[in-house]
Amino acid sequence: MGRLVLLLLLPLFLFGSSVKSFKWKDGESFLTFLEDKKLPLSLFYNLDKEDQQLTEDIPFTANCQMLISDKNIIEQILIPVNDELQLQIYLTPKKRYKMHVIPIVSETYNEVLYTEIQTAPYDDILKATGSKRLASRFVKMFKGRVNFKKEVKRGDPLVIVYEQKYRLGKYFSMPEVAGAMIEISGKRYVVYRHKDGRYYDAKGAQFEKFLFKLPIRNARMTSGFTKRRYHPVLHRYRAHVGVDFGARPGTQILATGEGRVCFAGYSNGYGKTIKIRHSNGLTSLYAHQKGFKKGIHVGSKIKQGDIIGFVGSTGLSSGPHLHFGMYDGSTPINPLSVMKKKTEGFTGKEYRQFVAIRSKLDRIFNEKLRTKPLKRKPLDFQDTYYVNKDTFKVEVF
Ligand SMILES: [Zn+2]
Repeated sequence: MGRLVLLLLLPLFLFGSSVKSFKWKDGESFLTFLEDKKLPLSLFYNLDKEDQQLTEDIPFTANCQMLISDKNIIEQILIPVNDELQLQIYLTPKKRYKMHVIPIVSETYNEVLYTEIQTAPYDDILKATGSKRLASRFVKMFKGRVNFKKEVKRGDPLVIVYEQKYRLGKYFSMPEVAGAMIEISGKRYVVYRHKDGRYYDAKGAQFEKFLFKLPIRNARMTSGFTKRRYHPVLHRYRAHVGVDFGARPGTQILATGEGRVCFAGYSNGYGKTIKIRHSNGLTSLYAHQKGFKKGIHVGSKIKQGDIIGFVGSTGLSSGPHLHFGMYDGSTPINPLSVMKKKTEGFTGKEYRQFVAIRSKLDRIFNEKLRTKPLKRKPLDFQDTYYVNKDTFKVEVF
């Protein structure tokens, strides 16, 4: 770990070198990126199949960094592939480029936001925390239950209990909301995150209704979703941002939900691939297909359960299987977390677990409503602050 920290701090110590930040371009392939930066293509070809496939999932929102010497030579590049792993390209002392998949060093803090409505929940959360992601997450969580535009009044309190990752002192990745509440004219609306990662109201009814279905009949899962896993034999970090289902070649692939085909074609790692965009902002991906169902093309309207293609082994695949992915924007999420659940409502042990989670969050909500701790905007390390000697307030230079 010591070496990793050192590598991350390197930019601060090297005089004459400069750090350039850039965003990964939408649709950019790793090979064209290497070509563009005049880096050896062997960096890609020397990777094994799994890591090559990983480069296809670099989200276009990824904040990348490049360290360049005063002679304009690239010394290091960091490209996050998700919020746990990043690709690191670096120049060795023998002037050769190498690449590794390494963990992203970040800290996670438990935070609680209490604020009172001035204009609208989104604006007030953004103002209090500076986090657009937290603001939109909150609004999304209450969608369909509360009409913020009509019902919310000035002074109505809201509380969000969440975990936030920080990287180099800055917000990083999506906040994970454990629970949230808003009181509108004295009436309380609540959301709790259960152990299964889904959100429920006080009675245990599911908040976000996901109606997706598995893309294969009698599905047999052979590999699960993980953003970061350490391979004990290879001594390397890996990620698998989808779920694999083992199946005979030619097995029908079914659309997980209603939507419109936004990609139907070939990609290096995923082979013959279809992507379907769904109305709730999620996109599903079906890779390594043998072939598509006749007539499927970009723009096709698809109903849930429609046959879209057939299981194969195209692209970087070690045998016939379906790689099934789900994306929220460009961020991969676990597809199983949004599949329709067989039962509604909790019973037995699961009910007791839910009650424990609910009580714990209720205690936090009640305490914050009582103490009203208005949160100050956190210091942003990008800017430089000083303390005003008259007012003792923190101000930006
Ligand atoms: Zn896979």
